[in-house]
Amino acid sequence: MRNFAREIQQRKQAGLYRTRRLVSGPQRPELVADGEQLLSFCSNDYLGLASHGGNITTLKDALSEVGLGGAASHLVCGHHEAHHRLEQRLAAFTERDDALFFSTGYMANLGVISALAGRGDTIFSDRLNHASIIDGCILSRARVRRYAHGDVAALDTLLSETSGHKLVVTDGVFSMDGDIAPLRELARACKARDALLVVDDAHGIGVLGPQGRGSVLEAGLSQDEVPVLIGTLGKGVGTSGAFVAGSEVLIDYLVQKARTYIYTTAMPPALALATCASLDVVEREEQRRGHLDALIRRFRAGARALGYELMPSRTPIQPIMIRDNFSALALSQALEEQGILVTAIRPPTVPEGEARLRVTFSAAHTEEDVECLLQALANSRALVDELASHQVSP
Ligand code: PMP
Repeated sequence: MRNFAREIQQRKQAGLYRTRRLVSGPQRPELVADGEQLLSFCSNDYLGLASHGGNITTLKDALSEVGLGGAASHLVCGHHEAHHRLEQRLAAFTERDDALFFSTGYMANLGVISALAGRGDTIFSDRLNHASIIDGCILSRARVRRYAHGDVAALDTLLSETSGHKLVVTDGVFSMDGDIAPLRELARACKARDALLVVDDAHGIGVLGPQGRGSVLEAGLSQDEVPVLIGTLGKGVGTSGAFVAGSEVLIDYLVQKARTYIYTTAMPPALALATCASLDVVEREEQRRGHLDALIRRFRAGARALGYELMPSRTPIQPIMIRDNFSALALSQALEEQGILVTAIRPPTVPEGEARLRVTFSAAHTEEDVECLLQALANSRALVDELASHQVSP
């Protein structure tokens, strides 16, 4: 039998032990975690909609109208007109013909990738793609070729060497680096090499592009150029679930084949109605994106001036590179002692030697919040230098 306790101990010794905090009350920057009042810079609630009063009222009303549980899978009797309404809304939002509502982004990626590729096919996946994409690739049983992060020339070479059905999959915004995939170049390469392009815009929806329609529409790419567009609803949109948008035939095919859509209970229909309301806010309230952008710019200027290493990102994901696991944990701890919550991200979530503090911003943050974060980072600068000079390792 495997010795679980020993494996956990080894994780601890390598600075890789994972813990959870117990949050009470709503998700917002002023967060109560493990009973402590903290200022959080680590949620994906980019527009501050996770506790939006109007959307909560819509949800309460919808619960009275359509009840709580999903009760059955979609293909049995769970497919409610509330789900249908959200799918129509998502299709319009992404300028696609149709859309399919999944329970989570993780499930969408597993279901879509394993439905669209199989034995004998080849999937080309960016090296920094999200875990759910990696798992979708494994589940598909297709051959997987990983290409260097964002390297379209390397991808094109791989595509040129491959025959048979080809599927290229990429994050729109990379979840741990915050940079945006070279979507126009990827679309061009896929068209030239007859490969199907799948973009997972989990972190772009709500945040980027006209009215928050995501990185794909920001790049001006049509359904013909990005035939499979995946997005999540638990981040920028502030509710829960995910979707795939594309042609009618694509959606029909996924209803036949995507096992994580077919063999699971439909999401609570009231949640679909609250998500429709949240999409209205996303589209309408451009000022949320404007404010978010100003916070990001202020942070970048301030953190750079303090000598911190940032990534080339203009999105709300702004990692501070630390590299050593223990040093990342120590900086996270030092910030927490000053009332600031930013989690340390370590391997295997990021490559070995690339541990970081993943700072994320929300339109619910104030300018003063960013100044507090920068002050705490300034106070911790000496500690970071000290850790770097010792390179604390296991
Ligand atoms: N794709 C990407 C790029 C992600 O970062 C995440 C979540 N962190 C997901 C998919 C999964 O989405 P969900 O949280 O809705 O399962």
